[in-house]
Amino acid sequence: MDSPADDPDAVVVGSGPNGLAAAVLLARAGLTVDVHEAAPEPGGGARSARLFDADVVHDICSAVHPMAVASPFFRGFDLAAHGVELCTPEVAYGHPVDERHTGLAYADLERTCARLGADGGRWRTLMGPLVEHTTELTDLLLGDLRRPPGFTAAALLGPRILALGTGVDELLFRGPEAPALLAGVAAHPMGRLPSLAAGGTAVLLGHLAHAGGWPVPRGGTQALTDALVADFRAHGGRLHVNSRVTDVREFAKARAVLLDVSPRGLLDLAGRFLPPAYRRALEHVKYGPGAAKVDFLVSEPIPWREPELAKAATVHIGGTAAQVRAGENTVAGGRRADEPYVLLAQPMAADPSRGLPRKQPIWAYAHVPNGDPLDATDVVRRRIERFAPGFGDTILAARGIPAADLENYNANYVGGDISGAAVTLRQLLARPVARWNPHTTPLRGVYLCSSATPPGPGVHGMAGLHAAKTALRREFGLGLPAGW
Ligand SMILES: Cc1cc2nc3c(=O)[nH]c(=O)nc-3n(C[C@H](O)[C@H](O)[C@H](O)COP(=O)(O)OP(=O)(O)OC[C@H]3O[C@@H](n4cnc5c(N)ncnc54)[C@H](O)[C@@H]3O)c2cc1C
Repeated sequence: MDSPADDPDAVVVGSGPNGLAAAVLLARAGLTVDVHEAAPEPGGGARSARLFDADVVHDICSAVHPMAVASPFFRGFDLAAHGVELCTPEVAYGHPVDERHTGLAYADLERTCARLGADGGRWRTLMGPLVEHTTELTDLLLGDLRRPPGFTAAALLGPRILALGTGVDELLFRGPEAPALLAGVAAHPMGRLPSLAAGGTAVLLGHLAHAGGWPVPRGGTQALTDALVADFRAHGGRLHVNSRVTDVREFAKARAVLLDVSPRGLLDLAGRFLPPAYRRALEHVKYGPGAAKVDFLVSEPIPWREPELAKAATVHIGGTAAQVRAGENTVAGGRRADEPYVLLAQPMAADPSRGLPRKQPIWAYAHVPNGDPLDATDVVRRRIERFAPGFGDTILAARGIPAADLENYNANYVGGDISGAAVTLRQLLARPVARWNPHTTPLRGVYLCSSATPPGPGVHGMAGLHAAKTALRREFGLGLPAGW
């Protein structure tokens, strides 16, 4: 625990990737900065732990990091220069469709097209131009959503988001693999399918698979947090763990207070000082379905029926595109799906340092209704076994965390919603509420920097960057530090 600064220039509440990104930028701009984190460890959704065995590292929340390669914040930060190695699997994500078909999105676009056979040309037409313009498109999609797209970006994104966001993409393909691959990526933000918000996610994450890949950090997601914390401290920043903040007035002397909290967290910290219209809007923010997390320790790699799946660090278990949609829509309607979508990571496919040949970590979560108290261990085991018979016999230990309990771990996961607020078109354009600069609040000097603000969920640090940029300009007359 660092000793508190006397009256720091700026305070950041919460040390998730967005809070830490903001803290790094403020400290590098020459300000004295304190970060207060409620948990005993920094990192929020970017932490790892040796859950069952000293030799095996499990990621508690985020595991796979396409945006740590692509986001403008991390490009400026330069993870490699901070000693973080991103390990890119040969297959970005795999998707067993049924007993005979498996979709595979290789990091290599041409290999993906070859595997898709008759649908390969269509996949190249869909993804190729996005890969070619990836920097421009990623900057836009991870921007603060106030900048209108340029001509190229509009021409590339418009028709694709429309096609993927309305289900028209399915008509383009003959086989079941390509639609299932796209539905599996569109399901990441959890919610109704098809939808324009999910279509946007599929375009962003789908093309990143073939641009920078879907890597995992060597040694675990914690490596990202450790690098951010080390840089923050190297620039004079002070981190206070076990420090839950309950009232924004605790920092009345700081010129800027950046909150890496949910809309509900903002109400708790400052609700009674907020103008009634803004407060009511925060009260009406909708939270999305929940994640029921399950971690397994297994004695060997998953015995997939399709051996090529062993090369994928990420596997989507949802069946056909129609089955993925049915499961997501059931859950979005507040009911448990009989066969829920499961997102699975087998990090040793890319990073053998995570365990040992006979002790390996498997990370998964099932999509369930918000606040569901279900321990999904058996559900997830059954879903994996459908495509990997014998998986159950390899399990050495397992731990399930119901969606309802996720917020005990991190107050931002309201009812197990890991996105900070539901990802709908409305709540993407007005996130968390309609406001020209959503990173500002009506309270002078108080900013919101969590995934409840644009560009939304994921480990990209961009909500932190947007909030820090605004705070630096408005409160200190400064720009972002060199490199950003
Ligand atoms: C199970 C799971 C799997 C995921 N998988 C991925 C993935 O593979 N890839 C990916 O990119 N993203 C993934 N995500 C999403 C990603 O983790 C989040 O979008 C990201 O962490 C959001 O960052 P943040 O900084 O906004 O908030 P968070 O990471 O949620 O951090 C907020 C921090 O603020 C602290 N805090 C809150 N209130 C207070 C308070 N009052 N006082 C002090 N501290 C407070 C919390 O304790 C927490 O540490 C996953 C999330 C979960 C839960």
